[in-house]
Amino acid sequence: MTASAVATARSRAQGLRADIRRFCEEVLPASLRQRSERHQVLDKADYLQWMRLLQQQGWVVGHWPQAYGGAGWSALERFAFEDELARHGCPWVIPFGVKYVGPVIYTYGSEAQKRRFLPRIVSSEDFWAQGYSEPGAGSDLAALRTEAVRDGGHYRVSGQKVWTTYAQWADWLFCLVRTSRDGRPQDGISFLLIDMRSPGITVKPIRTMDGYHHVNEVWLDDVRVPVDNLVGTEGAGWAYAKFLLRNERSAGAIVGMAHHVLQRLKRLAAETCVPGGGAWIDQPSLRQRLGEFELRFLALEAAAYQAMEAVMNGAESGAEAALIKVRGTELYQDIAETLIDTLGPAGVAYDTAALHHAGLPPLGPDDAGGIVKEHLYNRAATVFGGSSEVQRNILAKAVLGL
Ligand SMILES: Cc1cc2nc3c(=O)[nH]c(=O)nc-3n(C[C@H](O)[C@H](O)[C@H](O)COP(=O)(O)OP(=O)(O)OC[C@H]3O[C@@H](n4cnc5c(N)ncnc54)[C@H](O)[C@@H]3O)c2cc1C
Repeated sequence: MTASAVATARSRAQGLRADIRRFCEEVLPASLRQRSERHQVLDKADYLQWMRLLQQQGWVVGHWPQAYGGAGWSALERFAFEDELARHGCPWVIPFGVKYVGPVIYTYGSEAQKRRFLPRIVSSEDFWAQGYSEPGAGSDLAALRTEAVRDGGHYRVSGQKVWTTYAQWADWLFCLVRTSRDGRPQDGISFLLIDMRSPGITVKPIRTMDGYHHVNEVWLDDVRVPVDNLVGTEGAGWAYAKFLLRNERSAGAIVGMAHHVLQRLKRLAAETCVPGGGAWIDQPSLRQRLGEFELRFLALEAAAYQAMEAVMNGAESGAEAALIKVRGTELYQDIAETLIDTLGPAGVAYDTAALHHAGLPPLGPDDAGGIVKEHLYNRAATVFGGSSEVQRNILAKAVLGL
C-alpha cells in the first residue's frame, strides 16, 4: 500500500470516529445508552435493536466487501469502529454472524449459502452462536469429538459443545465437527451450519460468576443436518476455523474497553475522598498505578495502529492479533481491579437487583454494581478467544521462532 493510500485510510478512520461520536450523542436512544453505561445486562431484543441501529448507519458489516453489502473498510476503519464504540461504553457488537461466520460464508461457502445466509446476517434476522469448544477441546481445539456421520443427504451429528455464548437465543450454530478419525486430528474436521430448531438439540444454561446466563452447554443427539449446510469441503474445516479465529482475535474493542475503564477509574479517583480529606487521585501510590496504566495503554494503542498498518501493507507477522489480545485483556483486568479497590465497600457488595431496579439505590456511585459485574465477567477475557498462555505460545513461535 502506498503512503498516500495509508494517509487516506487514516483520514477515513478519523472521519468514522467522528461519525460514531455523533451517533452516540444524537442517535443512540437514551434508555439504551444509560443501561449500557450502567453495564446492565441486555436481553436479545436490546441487542437486536442495537445491531439494527448500527446497520442503519451502514456499519454493522462495514468490513465486508461491497459485493455482499459491506463498505469495504480498511483494517484501520474496522479497528476504529470497534475501538470508538467501546470507548463510549456502547453495547457489544455481537460478532457471531457479522464478524465470525459471515466472512467464512462469503469466502468459502457455496453460492446458495451466500444467498440464503448473508442477507439475514446483515439484517440480524438470524442470531448465530459459535460451536467450537468442547469439554477437553478448548485450547486444544483439534481434539474435538462431536461426530458427524454421513447418511444419504444428511449428516447425523452427536456430541457436546460448551461455553456457547447466547446459544439460548440462537437460530443457527456454526459448528466444528469430526467427519473422520484418519490422519492428523486437524484433518478430519468439518464446518457445519446447524439450525438450532433441529430435533435432538438441548441447550443447558451455565451461570458465570457475575450471576448471569451468558453461556451454555449445547448437547447434540443424533441431529440431522442437510449436506447442503456443509461449508466448503468435508475435512477442510480446520482451515476455515483458523480463518475465523484470526477475525475473532482482531479485537479493536479491547483497546476501547481499556480506555473506557481507565477514564472511569480516573473520574472515580478524583471524586472519592480519602479519610482525613483530599481525593484518592492525589495519593502517590494510586498516581503511580495510574501512570503505569497510561503508559501501558499508549503502548497498546501504538501497537494496535502498527498492526493495522501492517495488515494493510500485507506485512502481517501473524502475531499482531495475539499481542493485542494478551496486552489488551491483561491491561483491562488490571485497571478493573484498581477500579474495584477504589470503590471500597461498594466494590465488595454486589447486588444484581440493585443493578437492574432503580428503586434500590446501589452502595457507592450509580454504576457501582455494573462495574463489579463487568469486572467479574471479564475475568474470562484472558480465557475466551484463546487464553493468554496460548497467545504467548503463538507469540513465542511467530516472533521468537521458538
Ligand atoms: C465467558 C466465555 C465465553 C465463551 N464463549 C464461547 C463460545 O461462544 N463458543 C465457543 O466455542 N467457545 C467459547 N468459550 C470457550 C473458550 O474459547 C475456551 O474457554 C478457551 O478456548 C479455553 O479452553 P478451555 O476452557 O477448555 O481451557 P483449557 O484449554 O483446558 O485450558 C486450561 C488452562 O490451561 C492452559 N493451557 C492450555 N493449553 C496450554 C498450552 N499449550 N500451553 C500453556 N498453557 C496452556 C490455559 O491457558 C488455561 O489456563 C467461551 C469461554 C468463556 C469463559
